[in-house]
Formats: sequence, structure tokens, C-alpha cells
Amino acid sequence: MESMSTTHDRSAVLAALTARLGAERVTSDVADLLVYASDGSTLHDATPAGVVFPESTAEVVDIVTTCAAHGVPFVARGSGTGLSGGAMALDGGIVVALNRLRRILDVDVPNRCARVQPGVANLAISRAVEHHGLHYAPDPSSQAVCSIGGNVAHNSGGPHTLKNGVTVNHVLGLQIVLSDGTLVDVGGPERPGYDLAALITGSEGTFGIVTEVTVKLSPLPEGVRTAIAAFATIDDASHAVTSVIAGGLMPAALEMLDRVVVAALEAAFGLTFPPGAAALLLLECDGPEDGLDDEISRAVDICREHGALEVRLARDDNERAALWTARKKAFGALGRIARNYCTQDGVIPRTKLPEMLRRVGEIADRHRLRVANVFHAGDGNLHPCILFDDRDADERARVVSAGREILDVCLELGGSLSGEHGIGIEKREAMARMFAEDDLAVMRALREALDPLGLCNPHKVLPGGSRCVELGPGGKQVHA
Ligand SMILES: Cc1cc2nc3c(=O)[nH]c(=O)nc-3n(C[C@H](O)[C@H](O)[C@H](O)COP(=O)(O)OP(=O)(O)OC[C@H]3O[C@@H](n4cnc5c(N)ncnc54)[C@H](O)[C@@H]3O)c2cc1C
Repeated sequence: MESMSTTHDRSAVLAALTARLGAERVTSDVADLLVYASDGSTLHDATPAGVVFPESTAEVVDIVTTCAAHGVPFVARGSGTGLSGGAMALDGGIVVALNRLRRILDVDVPNRCARVQPGVANLAISRAVEHHGLHYAPDPSSQAVCSIGGNVAHNSGGPHTLKNGVTVNHVLGLQIVLSDGTLVDVGGPERPGYDLAALITGSEGTFGIVTEVTVKLSPLPEGVRTAIAAFATIDDASHAVTSVIAGGLMPAALEMLDRVVVAALEAAFGLTFPPGAAALLLLECDGPEDGLDDEISRAVDICREHGALEVRLARDDNERAALWTARKKAFGALGRIARNYCTQDGVIPRTKLPEMLRRVGEIADRHRLRVANVFHAGDGNLHPCILFDDRDADERARVVSAGREILDVCLELGGSLSGEHGIGIEKREAMARMFAEDDLAVMRALREALDPLGLCNPHKVLPGGSRCVELGPGGKQVHA
């Protein structure tokens, strides 16, 4: 079933919530709504009917119940750093902004877990437990800001995913408000039955609003070794990646930056790399001190065998932080060379990296676009960033076509549409190119079982059908 709510229904919801929560926690002011009309993705935006700021789980239940009673759609929003348009309220729905639910409720050191509210920033969890020698392992590059609720919704990864796994491997339990307002707890230690916490993780806010997350805490590694290798060609760097893994090593991180990113970093932050460097490979090994030097030297040797122009090995924490600066500032540096960029997120088998990167270059050339690659090479998770100027409608259209072609090559090479940024609005039509109709039918059935009214983040993830939404020129939603 899909929402047929009217302007009158939305106004009734906002009026009821204003009466109960107070005017300062409900807004439909045009200037305020602009802030919530988009996320970190650059190709779409949609203005919500209103934004509500709950401060407790009970208030989330109240908001969802009120929306359900009036048939008004709603969408959870964490920090708005998502890159697939997931937090946009289509159909003039209501945004439930969860940033005020940002308390760490409980830290259980002996059992190595913490119970946190959904608006807590990813990095804040690690900061709160580091004095116990623990951390929350998944580390998206946006970790200083992105929320744990958003991480759960997108099953987020990060540079250290290669060794540590993604969010689903570190979520022990969830509390979620379903689309009719029912509050349920799923997961938790040793609970038999269906693994609903895993099902909800990665569901992109389409099964309800997560109000508590119990995360696994992991010991900080005893030792860390970090190196950065510069290569004359991206092919050499890609072959080094496959050889490191094929050689039996399991680095904690293997991140790659291409020529465009290297030039942007040099121009923006004055970082210097060897002349002729067309690709950088950041390698990190961690774990027990014993054997760590041997592991990083084997990885460095492999880079040299593949023609590395230079390898820098960090001697202490300061040097290690300096090597990570290149990776961490990469996206910021791109902002200095292009007005906009659209970050793609495809996955391919690692062994296909050289072919994939060649084909990304060909696609960009054919569409007269510049692409910068900065990505999690170790797990074959690409992030081609297509640079453009959103004031140029023709260029914008070419960005959309190039993005689609890049994802199609990922599928052709046996990969996937998304490694970590989710499907959102941006890639939902592509789901029909990856999955058979029967596979999609199971996903639809699941969604309708959990959200029979179709109110919970509608028009996301699944392609076509009655949940199809029309986006006008410039990616803006055309309201009926
Ligand atoms: C510079 C940059 C670097 C990035 N690097 C990485 C990276 O390395 N790895 C990675 O995986 N991602 C990365 N991202 C993408 C993004 O940060 C992640 O997807 C992140 O998990 C989004 O969290 P958020 O709080 O911003 O969520 P939002 O953007 O607010 O929302 C994202 C989705 O989550 C849903 N949602 C949010 N909160 C809840 C909740 N409580 N309950 C139910 N659904 C909810 C929303 O409805 C939406 O569908 C990066 C983004 C940027 C801008």
C-alpha cells in the first residue's frame, strides 16, 4: 500500500506534534526545510513537509504513531552525510531528525559492549571507551560526524573494513519503532530465532526508526604499522593490492588514491609525493606486536616488486597520522578543484581492479568528465568521484549516464551496486539490473510485512512499482 496523504494530513500531524512537543521542536519554516532537503549526495533533493526533533524514544513512538494515524510518510535522519539520497523525505513526508538522541546509555566493559542512542556520532563511541583499551571498530571516513543510526541503516564500512568487517558484524542488538508505532527489541546476546538485528542493519530506514543500538566493542590493537607506497601507474598499484592479499597477508587497511586526488592534495594542502606518482597505496597492518614488523615488510616488498617509486613507513604515531592525512583529506581536496562531485560506490572482485579502473577512465573520457578515485582497494570497494558543475545541465546529465555505466561495469565484472553507501533513491532502479524479479519480490514482501502502510521512508531501495517517484530536471522531486 502507498501513502495518499494530503497537505491537510501533513498539517494535522505537524499541528498535533507542535501542541505536544512545543514549537521549537517542530518546524515547517521554508529556510529550515532547505537544510533537510538533501543529504551528502549531490544529484537529488526533496523538500519535506516538516522536521521534528524528538528527545526520547517515547517521542519517536508518538511521532510515528501520529504519522501512521494520518497516513503521512516519514523518514529518519541522522547526520545527513549519506551519499545515496536515503534521508530525503519524498512525497512531502516528515523528517524525524535524531541528532538530539545522542547519549551513550551504558558501557559494559567486561562484556565489551555499549548501548547507545542513534544520534551518537560513530567516533564518539570510540572516544568514550578508549581509556578502557577498547574501540568501536567500523570507521567510515565520515566518522567524526555520521551517526550510529545512519551507520546501522547503511551497514556502513570504512578503511578498516577489510580486516574488521562492516557494521552488521558489530551490532549486537537494536531497539526499533516500527511504522505503526510498535516498539520492539531485537537481537541481544544468545537469543534464538531469526536474526532480526542483522535484517534491520542495512535496511536503509525502511523497516522503522532505530532508537537504540547495542554495539560490540573491540580491543584496540596492540601495535599498528602504516606505510604509503607511490606508483607510476594505477595498474601497478592495483596489481600490488591483489598480490598483497594473494600473498596471504591480511592488512587492516589497503586504500588507494589516484593521480587526480594526488594532484588535488598537493594543490590544496601542500602535501608532497614523489614526482610521477599516479597512484598512492596506503597500507596498514595491526594486531599483536609480535610479527607485525615482518607483516608490513612483506607488504612493502610486494609493493616494490610491483614497481613502487617510493615507500614511506611511519616510525611513530605522528608519522602515522601524517600518512593518513592524505587519505582523510582526499575528499576535502576535491572540493578545491571542482564545484561538485558525485561519489559512486560499486564493488568488484579485487582481481578485476586494473580492468575496472581502466574502464572507469574510458567512461569518463567518453562523457568528457573528470573522475577522481579514492577508495577501499583491499575489499574491491570503488569510489569513483565524478567532478562536475551542477549549474551545467548538460554536464549533470553526463554525470548521471557515466555513473550508470560505471555501475553496469561493476555488475558485468561480477560485483555489486553498493559496498557501503546504500541504494537510497540514487540506485534503486539499478536494483532491477542486479536482482532477478523473484529476488526482488521476496524483498518487497518483507517490506510490506514490516511496513504495510508504506509510510516508512517510501520510494527508497526497491525499484519501480507503485513506489516509483518522478524526479524532475536537477533531481528535484516533482510533487503531484
Ligand atoms: C566525506 C564522506 C565520507 C564518507 N565515507 C564513508 C565511508 O568510509 N564508509 C561508509 O560506509 N560511508 C561513508 N560515507 C557515507 C555516510 O557517512 C554513511 O552512509 C553514514 O552511515 C550515514 O550516516 P548519517 O548519520 O549521516 O545518516 P543519514 O545520511 O542521516 O541517513 C542515511 C540513511 O539512514 C537512515 N537512518 C538514519 N538514522 C536512522 C535511524 N535511527 N533509524 C533508521 N534509519 C535511519 C536514513 O533514513 C537514511 O536512509 C561518507 C560520507 C561522506 C560525506
